[in-house]
Amino acid sequence: MEPVENDTPNSTPAEGQGQLAADDPTTRHPKVSPPKQDQPEPGLETKTDPIPDIGLDSYVGRDRLKGRKALVTGGDSGIGAATAVAYAREGADVAIAYLPVEEEDAQRVIKAIEDAGRTAVALPGDLMDKEYRNGLVDSAVEKLGGLDILVNNAGRQIAIESLEDLDDEQIEKTFQVNIISMFTLSRAALKHMGPGSTIINTTSVQAYEPSPTLLDYAATKAAINNFTKGLAQQVASRGIRVNGVAPGPVWTVLQVSHGQPKEKLPNFGQSTPLGRAGQPVEMAPAYVFLASGESSYVTGDTLNANGGMPTP
Ligand code: NAD
Ligand code: MG
Repeated sequence: MEPVENDTPNSTPAEGQGQLAADDPTTRHPKVSPPKQDQPEPGLETKTDPIPDIGLDSYVGRDRLKGRKALVTGGDSGIGAATAVAYAREGADVAIAYLPVEEEDAQRVIKAIEDAGRTAVALPGDLMDKEYRNGLVDSAVEKLGGLDILVNNAGRQIAIESLEDLDDEQIEKTFQVNIISMFTLSRAALKHMGPGSTIINTTSVQAYEPSPTLLDYAATKAAINNFTKGLAQQVASRGIRVNGVAPGPVWTVLQVSHGQPKEKLPNFGQSTPLGRAGQPVEMAPAYVFLASGESSYVTGDTLNANGGMPTP
């Protein structure tokens, strides 16, 4: 895929019209109709059909995060990987955290960060492991030489048909990874953050419209919105902003590693007003905006990128 440049003031009217047509949101990215498939959790993006678009061939940076230092959890694949690639191309050094079994996916992202001329740091580990979770931010700070951006993006989503089949172990694991780790990592990060720093949490449209098969997952996403609004008020006077991004249905390996009932995959995302699932690369600009000074008057908010699904 050719890099997509935004229209510039110097372009001719004809070029501008061409870009406008290319920006049609219903067709800007292909409508995926994924075949039924299955991978053990967390799954590998590189083995997903079709492979989600994390912007490796298309994201163009414009120095909007020059010299910043970022930690992105779940940065090996999907939305976190697209964010990590975009941050590096916007001029930031980036540490990514991910599960050790995801090394193959992570290495693509590490290479993309290095190809952008930035420092890449790989920090594999399991956020359910308290020792790893408690030490993760300090490891990132040590290797990056500081921290200005924390993206709490790692998430676990396992669909279960009925509450009677949802056991305590799954509920606890989902809460550990999706929300408890946000408390731990944000607390550790704040020790190193000064004015201008930002924390960005990945929530979901599930916070407002829970699927009946995702009770534990959706509950964590609602909690993340609430945590974001509360923490933002606590640290605003220190010049630190806290926001969330709420994706709608985005084509990632999360969906094929038990995140959705299999029969739903071929129609994934097609019931949104835009008629298609999103791609991870379409989420990255929201994370760039919220990390950069361009969003200086935005804090405690959740930016929805969901194909037009109504939100409160
Ligand atoms: P993904 O599978 O590519 O990314 C999720 C990442 O979470 C994994 O790569 C993994 O590194 C990390 N993770 C999971 N369990 C972990 C653990 N125990 N320890 C450490 N890391 C762990 O899928 P994605 O869709 O890009 O998910 C990223 C975030 O986006 C998640 O928080 C997810 O809930 C959220 N989200 C996704 C969608 C969607 O439709 N894909 C929609 C709304 C929100
Ligand atoms: Mg992954």
